[in-house]
Amino acid sequence: MSRNDLPAPGAMRCAFAWCTTPHGLTVHPADEDHRSAGIALALRARDARAGGPGETTEWEVGLLRRSGDDETWMVIEAGRALSLALPVDAARALGKVLRDDPDLRAWLAVDGSDR
Ligand SMILES: [Zn+2]
Repeated sequence: MSRNDLPAPGAMRCAFAWCTTPHGLTVHPADEDHRSAGIALALRARDARAGGPGETTEWEVGLLRRSGDDETWMVIEAGRALSLALPVDAARALGKVLRDDPDLRAWLAVDGSDR
C-alpha cells in the first residue's frame, strides 16, 4: 500500500486518522485490519550476524492494528522474508534512543561522518 492508496469512496469512516483501509468494502475479514499508507524505502541491509556489503531491498514502514489488537503496531518489513512490529511504547523508546544518545545522534546526522 502506498501513500496514494486513500480509502475508496463509499468506505465507512474509520476512528484512526492514519487508516487507509476501505472499511466495509473489503472482501475478506482480515482485510478489515487498520493499515496506514506504507512508506517505501530502498535500504541496503544485512543480517547483523553476517558480513559483506549487504543487499539493497525494498522496505516498508507503516502502522497496523489488526482487528483483534488492543494497540497499534509500527511495522517495518521487507516483503514476506523480514518483518518487525513494535507497539507505540517500544517505537517511542527506539526513537528516543536514536535522538538522545550522543554517539548515535552524531553518527546519524546528515553532515556526520561514518566514524
Ligand atoms: Zn481503519
